Amino acid sequence: MDLNARVPPGPLQEKWDRHRFDLRLVSPANKRKHTVLVVGSGLAGGSAAASLSELGYNVKCFCFQDSPRRAHSIAAQGGINAAKNYPNDGDSIWRLFYDTVKGGDFRAREANVYRLAQISVNIIDQCVAQGVPFAREYGGLLANRSFGGAQVSRTFYARGQTGQQLLLGAYQALEKEIARGGVVMFPRTEMLDLIVIGGQARGIVVRDMVTGEISSHLGDAVVLGTGGYGNVFYLSTNAKGSNATAIWRAHKRGALFGNPCYTQIHPTCIPVSGDYQSKLTLMSESLRNDGRVWVPKRRDDKRPPGEIPEDERDYYLERKYPSFGNLAPRDVASRAAKEACDDGRGVGPGGLGVYLDFADAIKRLGEDKIRERYGNLFEMYQRITDENPYRVPMRIYPAVHYTMGGLWVDYDLMSTIPGLFVIGEANFSDHGANRLGASALMQGLADGYFILPSTIGNYLAGARLDRVDASHGEVVRVEGAVNQRVRTLLSITGKRTVDSFHRELGKLMWDKCGMARRTDGLREAIQRIPALREEFWRNVNVPGSDAELNQALEKAGRVADFLELGELICRDALHREESCGGHFREEYQTEDGEARRDDERFAYVAAWAWRGEGQEPCLHKEPLVFDNVKLAARSYK
Ligand SMILES: Cc1cc2nc3c(=O)[nH]c(=O)nc-3n(C[C@H](O)[C@H](O)[C@H](O)COP(=O)(O)OP(=O)(O)OC[C@H]3O[C@@H](n4cnc5c(N)ncnc54)[C@H](O)[C@@H]3O)c2cc1C
Repeated sequence: MDLNARVPPGPLQEKWDRHRFDLRLVSPANKRKHTVLVVGSGLAGGSAAASLSELGYNVKCFCFQDSPRRAHSIAAQGGINAAKNYPNDGDSIWRLFYDTVKGGDFRAREANVYRLAQISVNIIDQCVAQGVPFAREYGGLLANRSFGGAQVSRTFYARGQTGQQLLLGAYQALEKEIARGGVVMFPRTEMLDLIVIGGQARGIVVRDMVTGEISSHLGDAVVLGTGGYGNVFYLSTNAKGSNATAIWRAHKRGALFGNPCYTQIHPTCIPVSGDYQSKLTLMSESLRNDGRVWVPKRRDDKRPPGEIPEDERDYYLERKYPSFGNLAPRDVASRAAKEACDDGRGVGPGGLGVYLDFADAIKRLGEDKIRERYGNLFEMYQRITDENPYRVPMRIYPAVHYTMGGLWVDYDLMSTIPGLFVIGEANFSDHGANRLGASALMQGLADGYFILPSTIGNYLAGARLDRVDASHGEVVRVEGAVNQRVRTLLSITGKRTVDSFHRELGKLMWDKCGMARRTDGLREAIQRIPALREEFWRNVNVPGSDAELNQALEKAGRVADFLELGELICRDALHREESCGGHFREEYQTEDGEARRDDERFAYVAAWAWRGEGQEPCLHKEPLVFDNVKLAARSYK
């Protein structure tokens, strides 16, 4: 397969502008003739659907929540990056580009990352124009704070609810287009398959989650903005509904899957508290602006934190990474927390926790200032743990948070299936092997508001799009396959719940392919996952019927997909014999425990092709060429 990223020629700074000029346009009169199906109404899908409709395309937008406003993007707390340089602290497009490439451990495409940094400044203007209430300085200028992996302050925020406020902006834009008739919205509708006709993506098969009706929607292009797949690990900071079904079914129809093993483990989450917990809660990275991370110097030190004197504390991030300190990037900070806990210096039940302490900041700034900055996060922490973080340090531990992997896309955000575009967290994206904090919102909105609206026109203007309708043989065949799968799931009537399979898969993934990975563990997972999958299809119990709201049925379909995706993640992790970003192979580390990359052998995007049930997937490689940054050992010391 020719894995051509179609990166435009020319100097890095000019690629996007020149490319936009070179792209074919669709005239206003012709835009009305095209229908685009947008699956997802989060920041990526919602912004794309609104923008495409404003341009004049007919848009159908789908989401599984009861309202587009409830997409998982609403959970984003900390902020969104942009190279505005308002604090005048030395930021620039080039610095954001460089920080992102370095933060991703040199495993991202230069041209995409540069474009992202360029567009970041437009995103803020767009959102301010929509009325997004970003925090402001006393004088009225938009305020910034710092996030991991950067030495400048470039993160725009709205208290600890940035995702919610940005989503309300995108939602208003979407609702305006719905009211105008440009977008038809299908809430409570789950995409269960992709229809590919003549090698082009031409439609989707969906299930109405309230009535159970299965139907098809056809169009000239399909856009997937369906979010990340961190819930393959069962426990994660993602919303419970987040899943991989849309991208996984598209993968099985021919879209290559890029870098599936690159998983972000976020260092500041509330530690797991019991075996039957179903969800983990993030404590935003923004807290590391003022909170100091530490553990006792002595092993098994059971004293309450307040009784441990300063000189018996190890502020290990400040000690190990003096130039970035508590704002070391997520992969680095997570590994350091694991190292401290593995060394017997963890705190809280089971020793799986480290302190995030605000005592110094409260002394310096006063409790009111801390409440103003992080009040809602502190309240959330107190409600969950029943501990008051204004008085005692928070306890935190790393947890699965974000998936850098996703469907492979070219520079135009098109997958290997012509006409299938993938945006936001669902694509393999611009973050390489590790995403920097506050960059997901930036990427999702860059894709939806600015990139896709230009690039999709180029495809539509040039593609031959024959008329298709619901009687087409392929539409009937795919719809039939979806119906059959639903009936099969209901007919097994076995003895185990869907959740019990999901939990077992998640534990296996976390133990063998989580924060640290090893050859033997990965091999074991690759053996055990197919066995679990086989048992699932023999012994799962999905109560209820297909003609009603049936959450067990919805979950069963998603877990069936996770059981296939999990194996691919482990295969990808096994083949990548290096450590980079969120992919830490214990065999490949430096003497002081840092990730050891192998640029000679692995400076490429791994893009996997589905070859059928029970077949090993096929690996394709997109070489990564660095003309503008020097490949270097990543150091935050
Ligand atoms: C707790 C938390 C805090 C975060 N904080 C930040 C932050 O401060 N800054 C930052 O940059 N990033 C943050 N992130 C990451 C960021 O929120 C996400 O990466 C981003 O919001 C994803 O947006 P999206 O539009 O790609 O997907 P989502 O917001 O997940 O939207 C997915 C959409 O797809 C729909 N969908 C999915 N599957 C189907 C299907 N099969 N059929 C129909 N519809 C479907 C859903 O209904 C939904 O509308 C955070 C993440 C978490 C978990």
